[in-house]
Amino acid sequence: MYDAIVIGARCSGASTALLLARQGHRVLVVDRASFPSDVISTHFLWPHGMSYLNRWGLLDEVLAVTPAHTTVEVVNDGISLTGSVPVELLREYFRDLHGDDSGVVQSYASVRRRVLDQILVDAAAGAGAEVRTGFTVRELVVEDGQVVGVRGRGADGEQVEERARIVVGADGRNSFVARTLGLPKFDERPRCTFAYWSYWSGFDLGPAQLHRRGRLACAVVPTNFDQNMVLVWGPSEWSREFRADVPGNYQRTLDFVSPELGETVRARGVREERIYGTLDQSAFLRPLHGPGWVLVGDAESAKDQCTAIGMTHAFRDAELVSAALDRWLRGAVSIDEAMAAYEGRRRSQNAAAYHDYVCTLAEMRPYRHDELQLFVALRGNQQETDRFIATHADVAPVSEFFQASNLFLLNDAAKESSADHAVFADFAGTSRSYQQNLFA
Ligand SMILES: Cc1cc2nc3c(=O)[nH]c(=O)nc-3n(C[C@H](O)[C@H](O)[C@H](O)COP(=O)(O)OP(=O)(O)OC[C@H]3O[C@@H](n4cnc5c(N)ncnc54)[C@H](O)[C@@H]3O)c2cc1C
Repeated sequence: MYDAIVIGARCSGASTALLLARQGHRVLVVDRASFPSDVISTHFLWPHGMSYLNRWGLLDEVLAVTPAHTTVEVVNDGISLTGSVPVELLREYFRDLHGDDSGVVQSYASVRRRVLDQILVDAAAGAGAEVRTGFTVRELVVEDGQVVGVRGRGADGEQVEERARIVVGADGRNSFVARTLGLPKFDERPRCTFAYWSYWSGFDLGPAQLHRRGRLACAVVPTNFDQNMVLVWGPSEWSREFRADVPGNYQRTLDFVSPELGETVRARGVREERIYGTLDQSAFLRPLHGPGWVLVGDAESAKDQCTAIGMTHAFRDAELVSAALDRWLRGAVSIDEAMAAYEGRRRSQNAAAYHDYVCTLAEMRPYRHDELQLFVALRGNQQETDRFIATHADVAPVSEFFQASNLFLLNDAAKESSADHAVFADFAGTSRSYQQNLFA
């Protein structure tokens, strides 16, 4: 009998297993995948994601093989902002959510999942968790309405049953646990982006760049193996036409959104892998917990990749759920109290506002005139630029940055005017042209 069985051994599952094992609990973590392996995902980590790794003592191992940087550049319709999530906001985030602010770092990195997930799995095993890879859970053991264990098969094909006081579903957006229990999805947002990316050598552009123009976007981020991850994305309504010629439309998107990046990739880039892609990124929430089970990561909260937050959220969930379960497993609180504590932090008003922010961005409608004016107003105001980046990364509350009074103050103090930026020259015409499907 284990204290906890964790299904899924990646960002949310291996981290949960690691933290529970370090707290002295008997943990089994299983995954049908073998490691090292990638998943259909890019892999950018904001500073709070990096800080979680640092809090768990894993950051040095990651940084030994991964380039990191301390700023990001965000370019919207040619309006460039460079900044970083402020350390004091990071500290506040950790104090509010986890009660302490140890381990905060202000760096960014893009860590291949074949690298990161292996480090997490090894750390979980090193902490004493039993790790079974190549093991597929096929049934939940349910007694008197309570999940009490799992049945599954390992690589040898033999069916085994294991029991635990709690089963943690860390099994991704198509969660087996959620489907088996018939859990409903709610706050579903079908509108999302399509995303295609690959890995390129031959150039070094420094820190991460995120570009947006009209309804399309691209990003370039240095990653492992001396390569760059170059990603393009756009509205799902345009995905059918995009897919008609993936390599051609990938380059066409780069050329449209950032002609400089497009030229760099075309002239100097050597593509090291195939172009990966996904269309399935609709957002939803599921119930967090029930008798004998709890969900973490994408299993509970799936959302579009457009703010690159899912892995950091998975780390957050791992720390929150392991702290809650630890108190229950030690007998300090009842399971209901433990789950209420987890739910209280996960279902805060700020979390709801951020979910809405991501889902709205994922619709990929062109920025409005007033939104672009706001980006102009931020130029030359480093403090507010940094606060905007912190808001986009879910470190600072959406409601604080985007409150009307803050936006008025910003515009009043703006050092540049919209006349300095080309997008405003024929704004109506530009907006109309942005509605046309580039790939049709
Ligand atoms: C295109 C794209 C780009 C993204 N880019 C970023 C980014 O830049 N930054 C970021 O932070 N996030 C990004 N994300 C989101 C990120 O990938 C997810 O939020 C993250 O992987 C969630 O981690 P997880 O551990 O909850 O689930 P997963 O990583 O999905 O892991 C679930 C695991 O459960 C296992 N499993 C499932 N069912 C079973 C079963 N029955 N038995 C055994 N094992 C099982 C699977 O094998 C899998 O290994 C992106 C997502 C997409 C789609």
